[in-house]
Amino acid sequence: MKMKRINSKVILCLMLSAIMALTTGCSGGAAGTPAGGDAGKAAAGSTGAAINKTADVIVVGGGGAGLAAATSAAENGASVILIEKAAILGGNTARSGGVFNAVDPERQKNVKMTKPLLEDLTALLDAKESDFGDFGPTLTVLKGQIREYLKSGDKNVLFDSVELHMIHTYLGGKRVSLDGKTTITGKLDLVRTLCTNALGSIQWLEGYGLKWNDNISTVLGALWPRTHSNTMPVGSGYIKTLSDAAVKLGAEIMLETKANELIVENGKVVGVKATKTDGTPVTLRANKGVVMATGGFGANPEMRAKYNIYWEKMPLDMPTTNSPTATGDGIIMGEAVGANLVGMGFIQLMPSSQPVTGLLSGGLWSSAESQVFVNKEGKRFVNEYAERDVLSKAALKQTDSMFYIICDQVTAGNPQPGGKNGWGDNIDDLIKTKSVYKADTLEDLEKQLGMPSGALVAEIRKYNSYIDNQKDPDFGKKNFGPKLEKPPFYATPRTSSVHHTMGGLEIDSYARVLDKSGKVIPGFYAAGEVTGGIHAGNRLGGNAVADIITFGRIAGKSAAKAQ
Ligand code: ADP
Repeated sequence: MKMKRINSKVILCLMLSAIMALTTGCSGGAAGTPAGGDAGKAAAGSTGAAINKTADVIVVGGGGAGLAAATSAAENGASVILIEKAAILGGNTARSGGVFNAVDPERQKNVKMTKPLLEDLTALLDAKESDFGDFGPTLTVLKGQIREYLKSGDKNVLFDSVELHMIHTYLGGKRVSLDGKTTITGKLDLVRTLCTNALGSIQWLEGYGLKWNDNISTVLGALWPRTHSNTMPVGSGYIKTLSDAAVKLGAEIMLETKANELIVENGKVVGVKATKTDGTPVTLRANKGVVMATGGFGANPEMRAKYNIYWEKMPLDMPTTNSPTATGDGIIMGEAVGANLVGMGFIQLMPSSQPVTGLLSGGLWSSAESQVFVNKEGKRFVNEYAERDVLSKAALKQTDSMFYIICDQVTAGNPQPGGKNGWGDNIDDLIKTKSVYKADTLEDLEKQLGMPSGALVAEIRKYNSYIDNQKDPDFGKKNFGPKLEKPPFYATPRTSSVHHTMGGLEIDSYARVLDKSGKVIPGFYAAGEVTGGIHAGNRLGGNAVADIITFGRIAGKSAAKAQ
């Protein structure tokens, strides 16, 4: 019995070393240079002796926001300890699509301005500033830019600006609760900070070795072609790049270390109490500040149900795209020290999730321009270029609350036999397990899907004619990809699942956490999905990673400078 326990411990240590080597690029089991105090003493395998450490900055959570904060704090001269409750870094960031919105004149100059996008843009000239609240002055600046573009710009090349990104974020986020009593919008200073710094965040990551693709598209629910992708699978590039960077800069990473509460002295956050998976108590003191980066609460069904004020139903068993670690810990810990919570009732459902697993993986499609959604009857039912909540609301009304994404060989991203999709799924396996249906003709595809004879064929013929005319009289789709005409054809079944919790700790544009009277809580910073106030009632697709990296970087710097 004893022997067995020792063996399993040794195996666990070996596994952890392997995981750390993979995720942080470390060759040994310890993650980086000790940060201060008695940091660096072996903790793994502890039988319960308390661990006490001190660093300038303590970061809680090892997803994109936390790793950005750790890297940035270390860049700014701070000693850093990052704790992560799971046995592996990554959180929701690693399993996200990894796409990133930023206004990027260099890469966007290859994107064409289409007729429906131009119509969408010029419609803003008729919008009233008084309908845009704090964003009224932003609209005024944007109108000037649009007029300038119409007068002298090359109208074949896409228009974009920081102000347009801000207005899209505002419009995409402005929502009213189910009972009509709460209207929510993004906070101007946070939205401006996000949209102004997003390109800088891309360049910052580039500086640490992340390679970006040149092509720009629109991820589902992004509203405009400004979505970037990088060369690494889904969200893994952010985790690998930033964990390597943080460790190289001297940050210590402690896995399997769950924060339980913040330590407050004289009204200042000065540390964190945590527990290792084996029960070892850990006390971490921060000379300068604590950055909360624990992600959202999408995997906490009770918390979702408690706060939801937007969806008619939020059943406890609703599937989620989230990592099981997204349980809202940082929101609870923050609230316990007086932090204000904002936007907690608004939760994003991802319309295009795998019906059985609720995950984003397991399908075939490309950008929002190219996606065609049809219901079980073979009929389109929505503008596929709309916001995610609009798509989910429409999709939940269809038979069995599900639909199919229809692609041809081109819009499916040119899949090859034996090849993999962007999530690393083997495409042949997806077809075998009917996660994806494949057919040489649309007639055969609709037969496999059990749709009424001729329905899908007629719908795709009609949709292709809308592409010819660049106008969708049925649902007003705002941007189109290529026609669906190159066999084979594919159908991916999809349904809605819990994706992103927009609410959380209120922060200012320095990522300082605010209390209920709007005052900064000294020593307390937050970034990423644990925060609220940016995405309001509905986050734009592609704005999450831009947010977590941008505000993670800001939080790390603010904490390092005790700003
Ligand atoms: P973000 O996108 O905001 O970075 P992620 O979900 O990617 O959010 O990352 C959050 C990370 O925080 C996850 O890896 C999760 O396991 C970790 N985490 C959540 N709660 C705690 C906690 N109490 N202590 C330490 N780490 C935590």
